[in-house]
Amino acid sequence: MNRQRMDVTIVGGGMVGMAQATLLAVRHPELRISLLEASEVTPPVKEDSYDARVVALTEASRNLLEEVGAWQSIAGVRECPYTQMRVWDAEGTGSVYFDCRDVKLPNLGHIVENSVVLAALRQRVEELPNVDMVTGFKLESWWRDCGLWHLQPRSVHSERIDGLEETPPVFTTRLLIGADGARSRVRDLLRIRTRDVNYRQTALVCVARCEQSHQHTAWQRFLDTGPLAFLPLSGLGDDNHCAVVWSADDALARELVMLDDKSFALNLEKAFESRLGTVESVSERFSFALRARHAEAYYGPGAVLIGDAAHSIHPLAGQGVNLGLMDVLVLTEELDRAFKREISPAHASVLGRYQRRRRGENAATLKAMSTFKSLFGAGDLHWRWLRNTGLSMVDASPLLKKRIIMRAMSV
Ligand SMILES: Cc1cc2nc3c(=O)[nH]c(=O)nc-3n(C[C@H](O)[C@H](O)[C@H](O)COP(=O)(O)OP(=O)(O)OC[C@H]3O[C@@H](n4cnc5c(N)ncnc54)[C@H](O)[C@@H]3O)c2cc1C
Repeated sequence: MNRQRMDVTIVGGGMVGMAQATLLAVRHPELRISLLEASEVTPPVKEDSYDARVVALTEASRNLLEEVGAWQSIAGVRECPYTQMRVWDAEGTGSVYFDCRDVKLPNLGHIVENSVVLAALRQRVEELPNVDMVTGFKLESWWRDCGLWHLQPRSVHSERIDGLEETPPVFTTRLLIGADGARSRVRDLLRIRTRDVNYRQTALVCVARCEQSHQHTAWQRFLDTGPLAFLPLSGLGDDNHCAVVWSADDALARELVMLDDKSFALNLEKAFESRLGTVESVSERFSFALRARHAEAYYGPGAVLIGDAAHSIHPLAGQGVNLGLMDVLVLTEELDRAFKREISPAHASVLGRYQRRRRGENAATLKAMSTFKSLFGAGDLHWRWLRNTGLSMVDASPLLKKRIIMRAMSV
């Protein structure tokens, strides 16, 4: 494909960037789309063990993956539909139980390993003739003239191999989409500032094998040092594996990281009140510093931000990718509308409409997560009473529970 004149160039081939490329390509076969990704390879799907990084996909996200043709290779193979969710407070008696039967749906969502979603999207990117994915190149700089962006990437090889600089292609594009994650270079080049909250917490993720079946339930216990989630996995034989996301204050997380596997498994089981019996084994642990970050604007001249490049949130409600995929859907709807009206897709009115539809929505979710985090992190007796009463009230109200489920599933 001639990279001198693309209609759309997406920087960042993570879940959100690849979903954007495929959705645009499927809806608009006439568009020439390029996708620039710094990593050379998409992480492989392991045949005999689970990936510790997972996402809890909502129905809206699943629909989008289906539309682009990626869900078809995931469904029933390496994903776990969860039918119930149990949330409870470590410091009291408050708890909430959600069941998909309350809303007459087959499930509340699907837990899927990140590597599985990435592989399915990558396959679609390669199958679609109007997407050109270039890997191993990082966007470094750009210039703009006559309403076009000229992007200058740099080979990631040249960072490693002295004197062997590959000649990078220059991409010229009408619309630039930044999907390059929380530390977005596109956002920096557009000089868009962010509002940041450092939670001073670290998320430890791993896979745990438990004595008992996970019962297709997503489990979340709120400790005053942070939430602990056990998310059900399936696809490799039994129903005893869970992806663990343990968000803990930095000091505690540092201690937990240092433990050997046996001591860590014991601590994990205790923190989880042995709800699934003994934690028999744990995989390698990975840690992520937790911060919320929100871009003050989602677009600049001829360029727009989606996914973690625009917003990153605490993983306690598992909504990061879901919010990013909703950005993809809304931006594509606005671009569909622009093409129909013969307006340039890079026009400020088009990108402004996308910002108006998404920024307030994402800000509300970010705020809700911060409030949740503060409420459940407060050791004070009054707060403890308030949150336990709140959880019990939600649990006692079928209507409220129904509303919460429907809202969470359509994010
Ligand atoms: C511990 C943890 C648990 C989580 N659990 C959940 C969950 O259950 N559910 C959920 O929905 N979300 C969850 N999230 C959030 C979710 O992982 C992120 O929201 C999601 O990965 C963001 O996707 P993205 O494609 O926007 O960004 P990324 O995944 O960060 O992808 C960005 C891509 O851009 C590339 N890139 C970066 N810079 C450049 C450049 N200059 N040039 C070219 N390429 C570049 C990168 O290599 C990368 O591939 C969790 C996050 C954490 C930390």
